[in-house]
Amino acid sequence: MAKCKNCGKQIEPDVEVCPHCGSEVTKGFNATPWIMLAIVIYVIAEIIVGRTVGVEPKKETPKEVESNVTTR
Ligand SMILES: [Zn+2]
Repeated sequence: MAKCKNCGKQIEPDVEVCPHCGSEVTKGFNATPWIMLAIVIYVIAEIIVGRTVGVEPKKETPKEVESNVTTR
């Protein structure tokens, strides 16, 4: 059984409006931890991607292709 946050009486968990006081019943699902988790995952991913990009050396493009075209 769920409790109405407005009047504190016990109500059915699947009702959207409290039958006692008529106020809207908010679902028990709390989105805040999921938002926090998403932010943490995003930050970790950002760090991992940033490190891999920073560590990997920039490869200079070989000029063999260009010389092959000129020496024809
Ligand atoms: Zn109520």
